[in-house]
Amino acid sequence: MTLKKYMDLSIDKARILVVEDEVIIARDIQNSLTDFGYEVPLIVASGEEAIVKAAELSPDLVLMDIHLKGAMDGIDAAKEITRLLGVPIIYLTAYADKETLARAKQTSPFSYLLKPFDEQELQISIEFALFKYKLEKQQKEDQQWLLTILKSMGDGVIACNTKNQVIFMNPIAEQLTGWQQDVAVGQDPATVFHVIHGETRQVIESPIKRVLQAGTTFNLPLETVLISKDGTETFIDDSASPIKDEIGKIHGAVLVFHEITERKVFEEQLRHIAVHDALTGLPNRVLFTDRLKQAIERTKRFPEHLFAVLFLDCDRFKIVNDTLGHAAGDRLLMEVSKRLKRSTRSFDTVARFGGDEFAILLEEISDLSMACRIAERFLEMLAAPYIIQEQEVVITASIGLVISLSPFDSEAEILRNADIALYRAKDSGRGCFQVFNNTMHAQMQELMQIERDLRGAIERDEIQAYYQPILSLGESPQLVGFEALARWQHPQRGLLSPFQFIDIAEQLSLVHLIDLSIMRQACYQLKTWQDTMPNCLDLMININFSSMQFKHPNLFHKISEILNETQLNPHSLKIEITESVIIENAESSANVLLQLQSLGIKIAIDDFGIGYSSLSYLYKFPISSLKLDKSFIIGLEHDTQKQEIVQAIVTLAHSLGKDVTAEGIETREQLHQVQSFCSDYGQGYLFARPLSPEAIVDWLNNPHSCFIHSDSI
Ligand code: C2E
Ligand code: MG
Ligand code: MG
Repeated sequence: MTLKKYMDLSIDKARILVVEDEVIIARDIQNSLTDFGYEVPLIVASGEEAIVKAAELSPDLVLMDIHLKGAMDGIDAAKEITRLLGVPIIYLTAYADKETLARAKQTSPFSYLLKPFDEQELQISIEFALFKYKLEKQQKEDQQWLLTILKSMGDGVIACNTKNQVIFMNPIAEQLTGWQQDVAVGQDPATVFHVIHGETRQVIESPIKRVLQAGTTFNLPLETVLISKDGTETFIDDSASPIKDEIGKIHGAVLVFHEITERKVFEEQLRHIAVHDALTGLPNRVLFTDRLKQAIERTKRFPEHLFAVLFLDCDRFKIVNDTLGHAAGDRLLMEVSKRLKRSTRSFDTVARFGGDEFAILLEEISDLSMACRIAERFLEMLAAPYIIQEQEVVITASIGLVISLSPFDSEAEILRNADIALYRAKDSGRGCFQVFNNTMHAQMQELMQIERDLRGAIERDEIQAYYQPILSLGESPQLVGFEALARWQHPQRGLLSPFQFIDIAEQLSLVHLIDLSIMRQACYQLKTWQDTMPNCLDLMININFSSMQFKHPNLFHKISEILNETQLNPHSLKIEITESVIIENAESSANVLLQLQSLGIKIAIDDFGIGYSSLSYLYKFPISSLKLDKSFIIGLEHDTQKQEIVQAIVTLAHSLGKDVTAEGIETREQLHQVQSFCSDYGQGYLFARPLSPEAIVDWLNNPHSCFIHSDSI
C-alpha cells in the first residue's frame, strides 16, 4: 500500500460515542474530545443503551467504560457493538485485574486505557485506533477484492502453503478437480490435482512439490490430463509458480490451469484432416504409408503375417467427370469408396490417393490366392451400376496387386511395385487385376531407360520428319502434299518407327515435344521446297498432333511461333487429329481449333472410322478433311461390306463439305476402288512410303515416281 493511500485513511471529523456512567468523567472526556476536533454527539451510561445508540449513530469509534450502570458491563456491550458494527473500541477503565483483561482481550479492542489517563494519551490512542481500523478495513476490502477476482477467473487456481497443503481453491478449480475447497484445504495438492500424461498415462509428479523445491515456475507437459475426483478426464494447460513476498521469501505455490479440451478437439480435427481425404473421409497417402510401415514391421517380426497392397484406378472416370460434371464425379468417387469400405475387414485400410486412385492394404491374408480373390471381388462389386444424378453409370476398375512375399526394401518400393502392376493391368485392357512380378519390374526399368533415351533424343534432334506423299485421285493422280511422320534415328538401334516410341512418349508426356519438333521441321522443309521448286508452291504439309497436345494451354501460341519462325503460309498447313482429341477435350479443343481455323490452318480427322464414330462433332467443329483409316482399305477389293462403308463415309463427308483421303493404298485395285467411290485424295505404299527429305527430292525428280515403291520404311 502506498504512503498516499495511508494518508487517505485519516478521518476528517471522527464521530465518537462515549460510554461512561460517571457523569463528571464523561463530561471531561467529551470536552477534551471536542477540543481535539472530534464530534461527540452523545454520552451513554449503560451497556444496553450503548448498543442501541451505536446502531443509531454509527460512530467511528466507541470509548467504553467497563463498569457501567445496569446489568450489562462494557465488555459485553463492546462485544455486541463489534458484532453489529465492527467499529473500533477503546476501553477506559480503572480495573486491570487479570480476569477483566482476559475478557476484554477476547473482544479485540483497539486500546485499553487505565484511568486516570491524560488527554494526550487519550488522543494518541484514538488516532491510532481510527487509523488502524481504517487500515484493517482497507486490507479486508483489498482481500475481498482479490478473492472476488480469483473466484471469477476463467482459470482454475489452487494455492498451497509451504507445508505442501492446499489453502485455497477457486470455483473453476473446484469444478475441474471435483474437490470442494473446504474438503480440499489441508490436503496434499497431488491428491486434489491428480494429473497424468495423456499419451503414456503415466502419473505426473505434483507440480506444487516441484515448485516448492525448486522455487521457480514450472509448466506441465502439453499432453497433461487432469483426473477429477469422479474420474472425469480433462485436457489442461497449466503452470505452477512460487508465491514470494517482496524480499523473495517463498510462502507457498499457486497452480493456475485451464481446460483445453476444445483446443484438443480442434487439434485432433486438424490432425484428422492432415491424414484423411476431404471428399471420401478415407485415409490419404500419408496415413496409408504409415499403416503400411507398421504392416512391414509386423511381417519382419512375424513372417507368417502376410499383407497385400492393391492399387486401384477407375477406368474411364474422366468421361464421367467430363460428361456429367464434377459434382457427379465426386458422387461416384464417394460411392466407390463406400463399396470398397464395405467389402474390406475392419483392420484393412482403404485409402484414396487422389483423383480416381485408391490403395488398399489387406492385412492377415493367408496367401496370394486370397488376395487375388479379394481383388476379383472388388472388380465385380465396382462394376455394378451406380445411380448418379438419376442416371445409371457403369465403370470398371483396374487393380495392381503386390503381396509381401515378393521381395522389397521399403514401403516406397511396395507402392511402386503395386503401381507397376496397375500400369500393366491398364495396359492389358483395363477392368482386370495384375499381380506384380519381377519381369514387370525389368520391363519398367526398360521403359525408364527408353524415357531417358527419348528425352535425350528430343534434345539431340534424333527424332526426324519423314514425308509420305498425298495425291489427288483424279484420272491421273497429282501430288498435293505430304504427311510428316516421325522417325527416331536411334544411334544403336537404327531408324525406329513411331509405333516403337509414340505410345511411350505419350505415356511419359513427351509426345507434345515430338509433335512440335516434327511440325517445325516439316514447316521449314515445305517452305524450302516451295521456295526452291516451282511445282511445289501449292503443296500442303500434314502433321500429326496427339490428344495430349490439346492439354497444353499455350498450344496456339506455339503453333503461331513456328509458323512465324519458318515463314510457312498457314494455308499450307493441315493438322491431323484423332477423334479422341475432340471427345477427351471437347471444350478446350473447340477453342483451339477455331483459333487455328481463323489463321487458315486446316484440320483433318485421322484414322476416321475406327474411333468413337460419333458423328455429331463433324457438324460442330471446324474440320475440313477425313482420313479414312487404312484398315478400311486393306482387302477393300474383295470385301463388299467394306466397300459399302467406304462409299457411305465418302458420301457423308461430301454432303458435309469435307474432303476424304484414303490411307494405306497399296495396290492398283485399291486405288481404282477408292477412285470409284470418289475419294478426293490417297496415300499409300502404292505411291510412296514415308521418305527422308533427300529421298523425296529424288522421288519428285523421277517421272514415274507416283507408282514407285521406296525401300525406306
Ligand atoms: P497415321 O497418322 O495414320 O499415319 C499413317 C501411317 O500409315 C504411317 O505409319 C504410314 O507409314 C502408314 N502407311 C502409309 N501408307 C501405308 C500403306 O500403304 N500400307 C501400310 N500398311 N501402312 C501405310 P507410321 O509412319 O508408322 O506412323 C504410325 C502412326 O504414328 C501414325 O499414323 C501416327 O498416328 C503416329 N505418328 C507418326 N508421326 C507422328 C507425330 O509426329 N506425332 C504424332 N502424335 N503421331 C505421329
Ligand atoms: Mg496421320
Ligand atoms: Mg492415319
